[in-house]
Amino acid sequence: MEFDAQVIAAYGRHVRLRDAAGRIVQGRPFGRRLQVVCGDQVRCEEDAAHAEVHVTEILPRRSVLARATLRGTAEPVVANLSLLVAVMAPAPLPDLFIIDRYLCAASSAGIRALVLVNKVDMLEGFDLAVLTDGFEAAGYDVLACSVETGQGLESLRERLQNETSVFVGQSGVGKSSLIRALVPGAELVTGELDRDAEGRHTTTSSSLHDLPQGGAVIDSPGVRDFAPAIESLEPRSLGFPEVDRLSVDCRFADCQHLQEPGCAVRSAAESERLDERRYESYRRLRRLHADLKAAQGPARRRD
Ligand code: GDP
Ligand code: ZN
Repeated sequence: MEFDAQVIAAYGRHVRLRDAAGRIVQGRPFGRRLQVVCGDQVRCEEDAAHAEVHVTEILPRRSVLARATLRGTAEPVVANLSLLVAVMAPAPLPDLFIIDRYLCAASSAGIRALVLVNKVDMLEGFDLAVLTDGFEAAGYDVLACSVETGQGLESLRERLQNETSVFVGQSGVGKSSLIRALVPGAELVTGELDRDAEGRHTTTSSSLHDLPQGGAVIDSPGVRDFAPAIESLEPRSLGFPEVDRLSVDCRFADCQHLQEPGCAVRSAAESERLDERRYESYRRLRRLHADLKAAQGPARRRD
């Protein structure tokens, strides 16, 4: 019997599926090439004899957040998002470059994004503006909240309503705590999925949680690093919205905004109209982009 379903959790080669009637079943992708991720809409085949559900096809994705593997190839992380929430906190010490790369991946994939500073109850002795100025200047909304005190959670709920969003960011910034605060009973699902068949904690699982007010949030594992898939990056700006805006005045249409003469982006950085840290981040992502492209080289030639 064939049916369509939504992938509400993915861990390793296993997925948890929810069909139109709300029935939840376990399944696995049929064939090695099918890279099914949380948020996917899929076609399934139920094999009565083996009591197993096979995912046979991924239905067209509205959006996909993809990361680059060490070999430079693209790997989907989550699908059908409308909003990416990049979470940071005063502790652990924020790595703003990771946030930048997530934001670039989102904007290149047509996913709106916002920056969320959690644990504002711990801000003492911390200058929030230093963290957030560059993002605000680029045009991102920055929200502040605390799961501990409840501050800002109401505005966050409003922003998440009717969106399919994902929380991303370093481990320990409070992503799971946020989901527990937003979705009553969410812990039951994550707790179960966080272990693989041998009972080990897995780091690749992600799961989708319905929000009481409509919409859903996807919980993704914490990352030490994130590299966006290079094919999906917008070539002119790599997904930095302010670079995109400035680059219309560059002399060359294919300007990479590094050493080219007549580069409007570099000159904006030199005259402090472009946030210095964001420009440095742009340059780093250019280098990473080049490195990943080089890593791809031999594999590409074999095709
Ligand atoms: P994750 O790795 O991003 O999922 O982070 P967790 O949700 O596991 O949170 C990491 C730690 O930060 C836990 O000990 C939480 O209790 C704590 N935490 C989460 N949110 C807040 C907050 O708003 N304020 C404070 N002070 N601690 C928080
Ligand atoms: Zn330029």
